[in-house]
Order: sequence, then structure tokens, then C-alpha cells
Amino acid sequence: MDKSIPVEKNDCIEAVCEDLTHDGSGVVKIDGYPIFVPGVLPGEKASIKIIKVNKGYGFGKLVDILERSPFRVDVSPEEAHKYGGCQLQHISYEGQLNSKENLVRQAMARIGKLENAAIHPVLGMENPWNYRNKAQVPVGQKDGKLIAGFYKPRSHEIIDTDESLIHLPEVNEAIKVVKEICSKLEIQPFNEEKHTGILRHIMARYGKESGELMIILVTRISDLPHKSHLVEKILAALPNVRSIIQNINTKKTNVILGEKTKVLWGSDVIYDNIGDVKFAISPLSFYQVNPVSTKVLYDKALEYAGLTGKETVIDAYCGIGTISLFMAKKAKKVYGVEIVPDAVKDAKRNASLNGITNAKFEAGLAETVIPKWYEEGIVADVFVVDPPRKGCDSTLLETIIEMKPKKVVYVSCNPATLARDLRILEDGGYQTKQIQPVDMFPHTTHVECVAEIVLK
Ligand code: SAH
Repeated sequence: MDKSIPVEKNDCIEAVCEDLTHDGSGVVKIDGYPIFVPGVLPGEKASIKIIKVNKGYGFGKLVDILERSPFRVDVSPEEAHKYGGCQLQHISYEGQLNSKENLVRQAMARIGKLENAAIHPVLGMENPWNYRNKAQVPVGQKDGKLIAGFYKPRSHEIIDTDESLIHLPEVNEAIKVVKEICSKLEIQPFNEEKHTGILRHIMARYGKESGELMIILVTRISDLPHKSHLVEKILAALPNVRSIIQNINTKKTNVILGEKTKVLWGSDVIYDNIGDVKFAISPLSFYQVNPVSTKVLYDKALEYAGLTGKETVIDAYCGIGTISLFMAKKAKKVYGVEIVPDAVKDAKRNASLNGITNAKFEAGLAETVIPKWYEEGIVADVFVVDPPRKGCDSTLLETIIEMKPKKVVYVSCNPATLARDLRILEDGGYQTKQIQPVDMFPHTTHVECVAEIVLK
């Protein structure tokens, strides 16, 4: 037995939860040794069974709650299915917002070592249910029947569900209808283990403002039986459909979408609006999933940018040009860069759709395209970044530090990498003025932030 570890496997302990991890697990400590316990909330006293001990930390299973948090809400198994495995479903919305703020504060203190940045309370949603404009449900088989829903947490077992509390009603309806049609037409569900079958995922994307619906069927092979029947039945059941797409993903991978798409019916894009900007969205392009909070986030980004009409803006990681076009109306010139070629095509199309002529887009890696622009003499006054979870590439941060834009607006979906990158920018002569967390993903552990950073 290792003397430095105060518990052993199968021990039953009583302890008070001190904290939540970034994935929503409770943390209790015994003589400073942290034990992660899913399901227990900060402030709660619980009895816990130790199920695993590692050198620096262990894992426990919640047996009983002895003192209950005022933020706890009871969720029945049926309701839990409707939450699709959301990690924070057992916490009231107020409690969720507190815990997200805490997460951001901790990341900024521990990783970012930021001293002077104001961190604001999370801007939450008025109605934090039925917000997602996109669903992507895995398809499988159980007892000879096609099933689709969500993966049981930490497993590849699919739980069959027809309604999600976080999807928009139109999205729920679309998934349910397409699932029934595929089942009736006996389209073979995917078998992940054997890598057989056809239908891997059903996706629906809905423009909340436009009312336009896109259905995407992700298949393992390009052959999709009963294609014309499938299209006919979908159109009959879902009058809002503007586009039916087949995406082919032949690989043994967790990544949902493959590279190849075919239009089975209708348009190759759907349209949607954010504020007064109209966007074309193609199947492989990134588009924010919470239209209500996105508007709040982009308005904040615009406010932090402080544009007067004279500025040159660079928007790295620009996607379909959402933030770029929001800013273009208030800036002299905007340059956007994005790795996914289809998204860049969308961005260009979106500029002309909105009569915007002062935005230029290029496909490529932000960390190679922007240094090239800089050599060509393009210098930003305001630099916007909105990277994926892993944060900004270090070359890109070096380019920013060399270019010295007066202001950096950092939009981030991961407080840990945001904090890391802010430290690099601070060491390079910048100061983080304020950080505004926005709740784009109620009931999940995710939190989005926008930060205003100024040149010292
Ligand atoms: N600003 C957009 C997109 C943000 S998501 C919006 O709000 O809608 C991040 C985007 O960065 C994705 O579109 C992704 O394809 C792109 N991306 C990821 N790595 C990149 C890189 N190294 N260089 C450029 N773009 C990248």
C-alpha cells in the first residue's frame, strides 16, 4: 500500500465536495488527495465508494447524498434521456452559471496568472431550454431495430431517444421523422464495432430566423438505397426542408462527418440571419449552435472591438465569415482566414449576399496566411481570434505580438487555452482588460468567453 495515498479501492468514505472539474465531476479531498466523483455538487456532504486510486488522484462513485446543495435539481431517468447526457442536468440553471463563472475565474488565476482583468458574471439565457439549431444523432441497432439518440456518457452505447430538451422543437421533429422514415425503408444502421451497415448519423440544421431546414444523412459507403423514396418521404413530412445532403464517412473514427458530400435534393446551403446579417451555411461549415446567445456574444465582440470605421480588422478562424461581416459594417477593411475551403466559399458568398465589399477571405491556416499577409504589409488595428478548443497556434500569437494591433478580441470556447494564450499575449506587451463569459451551451459544461485585450 502506498502511504501517500490516504484511501484504498472499495473504501467507503464520507466527504464534502469542494469543487467541480471542467467536465462536471465533483472533487472531494482527503488529506489533500483529490478524488473525482461524478454527480456530487460543491458544498454537498456525501458517502462515496472509492473505485480507483492513481498516484496523484482517485475516482469515486456517489453512494448517497448526506447534505444536499440548494442548487441540486432532481432529474428522473426519463428526463435524463431528454437531456441527452448533459453533464450539468442535476444543477439548477443559477447553479450552472455560478459554476461556469468559477471555472473561468480559476483558469484565469491558475493558468493565466492574470491580475488586472475584470471577469464578469456569465451572461445566461432567459429560457435555457430548446436552444440548439443543430442535432447530430448517432444511429445504431438494438433488437433488430434502428435506434438513434445519444451516447451514454463515457461509452459507445446508444440510448434511443426521440426528444431532446436542448434542441429546438423543429430540430427534434426533423430527427424523429427522418429516423422513422429510414427505419421503415429498412436502411441498414451502422455497426461501429464491425464497421458494417450504412447509416452512421442523422443530422439536422435549422435556421431559427429563416425557418430553413437542412437534413444530412451520414453514411459509411456512398451507396444509399431507396434514395428517391427517402427524399420524397422527407419532403412530404417536413415542408421546411430546403436541402437534403448525403455525407460519406468511410473511416473508422469518432469524427462524425466525412469529407465528401452529395446534394440529394434542393440547395447545397441553407440561409439564416444573425441580427441584420444573412448567412449561407453549407454542410461542412462551422456555424454557432445557439442563435440566441450567439447574438449576445457577437455584440460583445463588436463592443470590445470599439470600431470607428477607420480600422483594419483581421479575423483569424473566421468560419463562414460571421464575426468578419458583423465587423465589416463598422470597419474600413476586414481580412478573414479559415482552414475549411467550403466555409471560405460561404464567407465570400455571404459578403456579397449582404452587399459588403470591404471584406476579403482566404482559405488556409491562420498561422501561415497571416504572417504572409503581414509580410505583404497588411497590419491590423483590431485582431479577432476565435479558435477551436485547442486555442491559438503559437506562431499566430507571435505574429500578433510582432504586428502590435492596438486591440485583440479573443473569442474562446475553452477557458483553459484562453488563459494560456492570454498569458502569452500579456508577456508580449498586452493587457487583458475584461472577460465576458456567455452561456452558449446550457446544461453542458461548456462555456464561451470573449476577452478584450489592449496593447500596453
Ligand atoms: N468565428 C466563426 C468560427 C469559429 S469556430 C464563428 O463564430 O462562426 C473556429 C473555426 O476555426 C472553424 O471554422 C475551424 O474550421 C477553423 N480553424 C481551425 N483551425 C484553424 C487554423 N489553424 N487556421 C484557420 N482556421 C482554423
